[in-house]
Order: sequence, then C-alpha cells, then structure tokens
Amino acid sequence: MKIRDMLEKGEPTVSFEIFPPKSSYSLETVFDTLTELKGLHPDFISVTYGAGGTAQSNTVEIASRIKKDFGIESIAHLTGCTSTKEGMKRTLASIKDSGIENILALRGDIPQEKLADKNWKPEYRYASELIDDIKAAGDFSIGAACYPEGHVDSINKVDDLKNLKKKMDHGADFMITQLFYDNDLFYQFKEKLDLVGIEQPVIAGILPVLNIKQVKRIQEISGCNLPPKFLRILERYEHDPASLQEAGIAYAVDQIIDLLSSGVDGVHIYTMNKPDATRRIMENISCVRKAVCRKEPQR
Ligand code: FAD
Repeated sequence: MKIRDMLEKGEPTVSFEIFPPKSSYSLETVFDTLTELKGLHPDFISVTYGAGGTAQSNTVEIASRIKKDFGIESIAHLTGCTSTKEGMKRTLASIKDSGIENILALRGDIPQEKLADKNWKPEYRYASELIDDIKAAGDFSIGAACYPEGHVDSINKVDDLKNLKKKMDHGADFMITQLFYDNDLFYQFKEKLDLVGIEQPVIAGILPVLNIKQVKRIQEISGCNLPPKFLRILERYEHDPASLQEAGIAYAVDQIIDLLSSGVDGVHIYTMNKPDATRRIMENISCVRKAVCRKEPQR
C-alpha cells in the first residue's frame, strides 16, 4: 500500500525506522529485530540507506522482505548526492522489481572528501532532482525529509522553507521530520508550512534517548534544541545508564502522546534497531493509539 493512501484517511500513522546491520553483523540479525517489531503492528517500517557499498543493496532487500515476508508496508530511503544518474536508474529499477511502493527521497550528507574536491560535480545536487527521477521511474509514493529547526547547511530558515516548498512542488507526497525534543518547535514549524502553502502531511520523527553517547551524536548531526526538561534528565542520570534509558523512554512517550493528541499526521519512531525500547514506548501509547489512530495497519 502506498503511504500517501494511508495518510489520506486522516488518521495518524505510527511507524518505525530501522537501519541495515553494519558490515560486521550478518544481514539476518535485522530480521530478528523485525520479528519483534512486527508484533507492535506499525503501519509501515522505513529502512535507511547507507553511504555506499553493500549497505545500499541491503536497504532494498530488507525493505522488500519487510513487505513480502513480514506483511508490513515498507519504505526504502534513497540518497542521491554520491550517485550517478545511470546508477540511480539501476537502483530504481531494482526497487520497482522488488515490489517496494514507497521511497524516501534524500540528498544525503555530502562526504567530506567530496566537499574537499574542487572538481566534484554531483549529478544530484538536491533531493528535488532525485524526486524528478523517482517520478519518472514509476508510480511510487514519495516522502521527503524536513527539518523543524532548519537544515544544518541552510543559510537561514526562510530559504530553507522556500527550498522545502520547491522540493514538495517537485512531487513529494509527505514529509518525515528530523528528530526533535521540543514539540512546541514542531507546532511552530507546522504553522510556517501553512504560511508558505505546503499542504502535504508531516510525520514527526521521534528518537528516544537511550544513552549519553547518542545525545552527543544527535547534537553534532542535527544541532536540535534540547529543552530544559530534557537537559534536567541528562544531568540527573548522566552516570546512571538504566535510569537514563527509563527517563528517555518516558520522555518519548510524553512527546508522542502530546503529538497524537494534537492531531499530528503520523509519528515515526527511530528504533535504532532496539525492539525492547520500542515495545515499551508502544505499550505506553497503546490506549491513545487505539483512540486516535488507524484501526488496523493495512497493506
Ligand atoms: P535537500 O532537501 O536537498 O536539502 C539539503 C540542503 O540544500 C538544505 O539546506 C536545503 O535548504 C538546500 N536546498 C534544497 N534545495 C535547494 C535549492 N533548489 N537551491 C538551493 N538550496 C537548496 N541520510 C542518509 O545518508 N541516509 C538515510 O537513510 C537518511 N535518512 C533520513 C531520514 C530523515 C527522516 C531525515 C530527516 C534525514 C535523513 N538522512 C539520511 C539525512 C539527510 O540525507 C541529510 O539531512 C542531508 O544533509 C539532507 O538531505 P535532504 O534530502 O533533506 O536534502
């Protein structure tokens, strides 16, 4: 089923993100994770796309098996910045042949060595250019990334919003946000989308904080705001991993219940391939999910 059709029903989706296992682990490990996630009845599962090599073909294989073997709808992430047009044609053909109906179209983070190479000319400069080629390759439902606090490369938030509008005008059906810990910033972002006339649904990306290393990494990548309530948790439990994980799960539950109660289009949980934490979150939001969400995940 296409995610745009799920979202059209106007009831929030609850979905998960997983990543292909690192090369030191067997591909099969991800299917153990998926067996556990299946019992939580997500509306769909997304599979991230690595920087290169086998991780990329694994994305297509995993997304295909989520749909065929696990009976859950899937979405394959796809990045353009290091790909050639010819290579992308082949990847899109293999995605289509695998029966995958949904693609999250991304520019990707430009590797340092490419940025340093004065002669490097990307064949895909922006996600919008990849969206054009995905549309030409078949009838996919296309998602795009959005950044409630602005993309780290953007010169200012106004231009970032204008660029997001261009991207959506190229034909993306919905957005999934960068992680955030301050729901008010998400609600303000939604108002700005209204002002610039972006009408496609926005799925909120939620990353439960499970350890201190992860928080440092998050800050590096996204530079997102950490509200005082969140910082208090970090300070209090910095040296107490079990309590930090407990508080991180509770914080994510609180965020999700607030979002679902406020009429969000969907919530996407970055599982970090950790089914236990995801299960705890799903148990805690189950009553609210029953009250406001799609009744039965459909294919
Ligand atoms: P774009 O939309 O192309 O934007 C990139 C920058 O260019 C922005 O600053 C934007 O303002 C600017 N821009 C866009 N269009 C124009 C234009 N026409 N003119 C001038 N400037 C413009 N990365 C991975 O490698 N693999 C993944 O699986 C992955 N999954 C992700 C999932 C989600 C939900 C999110 C939010 C991010 C994900 N990322 C992933 C990270 C993403 O690839 C990076 O954030 C990347 O730096 C930007 O990708 P984008 O598609 O948002 O780029």
